[in-house]
Amino acid sequence: MGTRATLTLAGKESDKLPGAADQTKRLMQALNAELTVYRPDSVISRLNAVAGVRPLQVPEHTERLLELSKVYGELTSGAFDVTVGPVMDLWRPVKGRTASLPTDEALKEALSRVNFRKIQVANGSAFLSDRGMRVDLGGIGKGYAVDIAWRRCEELGVLNFMVDLGGNIRVSGQAEPALAWSIAVRDPFDRSTSLAKIEMPDQWAVATSGQYERFIEIEGRRYGHIVDPRTGYPAAGLAGVTVLAPNATMSDALSTGLFVLGPKKSIPILKKTGAQAVFIPDKQPAELWVTPGIQDKLTVLEDVKVQVLPGW
Ligand code: ADP
Ligand code: MG
Repeated sequence: MGTRATLTLAGKESDKLPGAADQTKRLMQALNAELTVYRPDSVISRLNAVAGVRPLQVPEHTERLLELSKVYGELTSGAFDVTVGPVMDLWRPVKGRTASLPTDEALKEALSRVNFRKIQVANGSAFLSDRGMRVDLGGIGKGYAVDIAWRRCEELGVLNFMVDLGGNIRVSGQAEPALAWSIAVRDPFDRSTSLAKIEMPDQWAVATSGQYERFIEIEGRRYGHIVDPRTGYPAAGLAGVTVLAPNATMSDALSTGLFVLGPKKSIPILKKTGAQAVFIPDKQPAELWVTPGIQDKLTVLEDVKVQVLPGW
């Protein structure tokens, strides 16, 4: 999945670390082999290769993850769409060529191949119903992998731990006796500093989507790696959004989806799911727009303005 995984066990449980690390590593590697689009023999690559041609038998995790991808697609009215790949290609730098904006025709053509509703999943098989369609689980797969690893640690009887896969984090128990796990909200404009600390609810997960780490510059403007499937353009308006949710699949998918939707349109989704969020508008000095439920868990470290999401 192109990133680093870390498993942390708190305090006296360190004797359980080698076993837990070994098992979670195996689970994540197996999942990666199913999902990666960087290998032509992965399940997802093979599914993409027969798009519009025929269904493919898929293993359980892939089936479940495709179903969940559709659920988050519906929940976000298509702002989260795992079939956005053809449009993403238009915003990738090409070696040896100056980056330029895609043409309207190119965008239109690519967008015609984007629609998560055309992913059909049933009885262990999956089918992408149009030719040229493609699934890319980059916005949800890491969260799902964290949940799998998290559950295995629980099954192994570990009580106090944290799983972190490239910033997709889920916790259990406490970091130290009488001390909850906490995570830092980085400053999107200066990644070496943190703006706030959030105390994690037990068993919850957190993920952040932003445009400060991966972007392309075209004619002096920055374009991020999260694309709005409704327009074909990289989502703009936010520097970042951090989502806390009861599981890591949800925090991963929603962080990507809410980044596209922006604060206002995210409110109904946050109310419906009970997930909590911190939005950082793309303007300086940095401000934090938060859901009311997170306020008593938030400690601001720098001198930044905090306010409840406008319109809540
Ligand atoms: P990261 O993986 O960089 O930590 P995200 O979880 O926000 O950050 O996921 C970004 C990835 O999600 C992109 O690299 C791409 O693969 C995919 N993606 C981009 N736009 C969308 C979208 N609108 N819906 C679903 N997935 C998306
Ligand atoms: Mg995500």
